[in-house]
Amino acid sequence: MTVRKIVKYGTPSLREKSKEVHKISKKIQILVEDLYDTMYAANGVGLAAPQVGENVRVFVVDVGVDKKTMHPITFINPKIIKKEGAVNSYEGCLSFPEAYTNVRRYKYVKVKALNEKGRPFVIEADEGTLLARCIQHEFDHLDGILFVDHCRNRFEADKILQEKGLPPVSADYLIDEPELEEEIQKRLQKQEEKQ
Ligand code: ZN
Repeated sequence: MTVRKIVKYGTPSLREKSKEVHKISKKIQILVEDLYDTMYAANGVGLAAPQVGENVRVFVVDVGVDKKTMHPITFINPKIIKKEGAVNSYEGCLSFPEAYTNVRRYKYVKVKALNEKGRPFVIEADEGTLLARCIQHEFDHLDGILFVDHCRNRFEADKILQEKGLPPVSADYLIDEPELEEEIQKRLQKQEEKQ
């Protein structure tokens, strides 16, 4: 059992594209165990290998709501095979201590991956659940994409990052998502009309 050091925003390895896993070696098995130990120690719901300085396509999530029940899911070489809808999501990241902002996410995702034994599985997450958001967030880490790249309001995000002593949002990485934003706006309007 090893709790590893989580690298912080600003570390170059967080921006690297991670490599596919070709063999579930002892090294990968230990990495998976360490990811869980590190995630639980930090009270996180997800952690990707690049966050502990290993640029391989591995991440773990556990969105078990009550802390006593564990729902660990290991993703190795994940592929998002279907994505639909859009939601606003208030998110943070263990590599961004105490910084949270509003980001755009798909409402639904279907993902194919290998588990820690190398067996393939398919998982669906819908309705903008924590699992759906968490999978997209951790998946992004494998491509060097960070949650602030999806921010809905750059000024809001920059203000929060500055308050926490973190580097500002980088224009080079900002992702323009007009379709997602449009759907989020529509959803918010509908909610207002209902009230
Ligand atoms: Zn993260």
